[in-house]
Amino acid sequence: MDPGNQVVLIDTHCHLNDPSFKDSLDGALGRARRAGVGQFIVPAYDLASLPRTLELGRRYPGVVFPAFGLHPWYLGDGGLEELDLYMGLEETVAVGEVGLDLAPGMAPVEVQERALVAQLDMAVERRLPVLVHCRKAHERMLGILGEYRGKVRAVLHSFSGSAEVMERFLGLGCYISFSGSVTRQRAKKYHRCARFVPAERFLLETDAPSIATQTTVASLVEPSHTVEVAAKVAELRGVSLEEVCRRSTENARRLFGLERMEGER
Ligand SMILES: [Zn+2]
Repeated sequence: MDPGNQVVLIDTHCHLNDPSFKDSLDGALGRARRAGVGQFIVPAYDLASLPRTLELGRRYPGVVFPAFGLHPWYLGDGGLEELDLYMGLEETVAVGEVGLDLAPGMAPVEVQERALVAQLDMAVERRLPVLVHCRKAHERMLGILGEYRGKVRAVLHSFSGSAEVMERFLGLGCYISFSGSVTRQRAKKYHRCARFVPAERFLLETDAPSIATQTTVASLVEPSHTVEVAAKVAELRGVSLEEVCRRSTENARRLFGLERMEGER
């Protein structure tokens, strides 16, 4: 792609706050920029990551946009009051990463649901969109988000459900975000979702450093791989790469209110 005359892509979910990026962050941001990926939504996930995430947002204003939340993998010691302080900051663009994960070995479902609902309430209060992790819990998530219909704009990040389940989330006003998992050749279920999602409801992400693409193992994934995700989504939808870049960027800018954030710099 020619970075000169294209829309800048936005990686709407990447953990540049992960300790693995500590010494490679500038390199990763440079490679992303050269590939045409120029803005990054970075969700916190546990209490320790909250200040790190804020610091990144302040170090790269207009480039890194922080989201704050407690991920279902890292619940336990409370922390909701501390989290709420971050929600009120002018840098904050979203609540997240929050969600439900019913894979074996996770916190009890009641604990997860309580934390999720508390954080959805923060999103309502602050009028922030929400970045949602949902694994093996689509029915429960549909039930909970159904209660917040019209009040919360949720993104199903790295969506892992069927096209039928996607329709139900779309009916609640949710956005669907595609990660490296859609680039895998055999991921037919994800391919169908990318084909059928409405153009005004999809986002692109890498979830760096966690989700492998067709070409790259998980530990080496970084925001520049948003381009690979975009190219696959374009191929699946039978539209140009430029069209997918333009649409996903428009969607992200609208959802996260990036215009407003850039104006405040
Ligand atoms: Zn994540």
